[in-house]
Amino acid sequence: MEQILEVWLLHTNRRPKILIADDQPTNIRVLYELFSAQCDVFMATSGAQTLKICQTELPDLILLDVVMDDIDGHEVCRRLKADPLTSTIPIIFITAQNQVADEVIALGLGAVDFIIKPINSVIVRARVQTHLTLKLQGDLLRANALLDGLTGVGNRRKFDDDLLANWRQCLRDNAPISLVLLDIDYFKRYNDRYGHQSGDSCLKLVAKALSESLRRPYDRVARYGGEEFACILPKTKLEDAVRIAEAMLGRIRALGIEHLGSDVDRVVTTSLGVATLLPTLGSGPELLLATADIRLYEAKRAGRARVCAAKEE
Ligand code: GH3
Ligand code: MG
Ligand code: MG
Repeated sequence: MEQILEVWLLHTNRRPKILIADDQPTNIRVLYELFSAQCDVFMATSGAQTLKICQTELPDLILLDVVMDDIDGHEVCRRLKADPLTSTIPIIFITAQNQVADEVIALGLGAVDFIIKPINSVIVRARVQTHLTLKLQGDLLRANALLDGLTGVGNRRKFDDDLLANWRQCLRDNAPISLVLLDIDYFKRYNDRYGHQSGDSCLKLVAKALSESLRRPYDRVARYGGEEFACILPKTKLEDAVRIAEAMLGRIRALGIEHLGSDVDRVVTTSLGVATLLPTLGSGPELLLATADIRLYEAKRAGRARVCAAKEE
């Protein structure tokens, strides 16, 4: 277990979170003693409490009792597996029902393992260790699949996920959402003149400058296409989004990346389109995206190295 903690701290900067759910506090205490030195342990004594803690704490592993008064372990498992937020949490059933049929049900519900009471502490620790290792590997793979390999910012898939999630959140909060689309000016000429590797370095610097322009934790930047980036600014009105876009424009120009093939400057510049919408029921973020794209096109047509914005009626 000590090794597990080391690996988690290395990759995630935190201890693994284990949730122990059992309606008998004495059972919880035994398991708590096994893991509290290396893990953050949460405890639940009912099915409802288990589901609630899963939403707020997002544990990395659940040791789940089958028989509980309100919502039994099987139903808890069913619900957790049906919710995308909690579906990847490994569930180990701990139960006194030692029939093969019970094990078949548990595994059929998507549990990763099945431990029979009375527990043997060596076995429980070994199995928890195995499944925490697999959970970490899965988390790292999933995170990787959403990152752009070159620049380290979110990729197109991450952007699509984030845009939809933030659109829905702003709809619930009745708040505006802003989008900034950014495209590097005359980037084809940059590649032609300085080489593709320099082009790649330029993309990395632009991505870094964009990330540094964002202040709030829920603002997001992603690589939208080859030399295009997108920034999602939830709960941001147009004037504020324009101010952020102007800051991005200035910051990238201030990098001073030589670009003698450009018609607008002697350094790398960008064009930015900004759009803001108040989400409405029954609509998606498509119009926001389309509007930002039109503004970006206008920025290009108007001479590049500028921000174009207008509120959609
Ligand atoms: P504009 O000012 O109108 O945006 O002109 P542009 O040359 O930037 O636009 P265009 O769409 O014609 O060219 C985009 C270029 O971006 C072409 C492509 O070679 C380059 N590009 C796309 N992805 C990458 C990449 O990953 N690395 C490098 N080095 N270049 C890339
Ligand atoms: Mg482009
Ligand atoms: Mg371009």
